[in-house]
Amino acid sequence: MKAGATADVRRACADFLKAASEFYKAPDCGIRVLAARPLRVRESWSTELFGDYTPETMVIRVWMRTAIRKEVTSFGTFLSTLCHEFCHHLDYQKFGFHDSWHTRGFYERAAVLYHYARGTPPKRLFWVALPGGRWRIDWPRTNRLGNTNAASV
Ligand SMILES: [Zn+2]
Repeated sequence: MKAGATADVRRACADFLKAASEFYKAPDCGIRVLAARPLRVRESWSTELFGDYTPETMVIRVWMRTAIRKEVTSFGTFLSTLCHEFCHHLDYQKFGFHDSWHTRGFYERAAVLYHYARGTPPKRLFWVALPGGRWRIDWPRTNRLGNTNAASV
């Protein structure tokens, strides 16, 4: 990632996604690894900074650099994004949902996949209630218990 070797990163992502799809008995999804995120990109998910997923094409896109400061995304954030987008893939293609919401269950599933992939112990997630019955992860509180690997996506 640091060397900007997009093709190598893409291959590693593809291997990871293939193993995950096989495990969950879900169809394979495509992966595109892009250098920097375009400043203006049509997003289905307003909270996503480093990736997205298009159900119609079953393609995940991840960005190795931030749009503004062009800094390399940390490995933890990058992997967390990949797991997050893969969980959108599962919602549509495995569970047959017509939408994929950022529910607490969604974040729990993404966290399980992330920690399993990294070989790190799952941490309890703490939540902040948002208007409209939505939730977001309270990262400061969640990370205070020693988990510094997880990232907010
Ligand atoms: Zn999402």
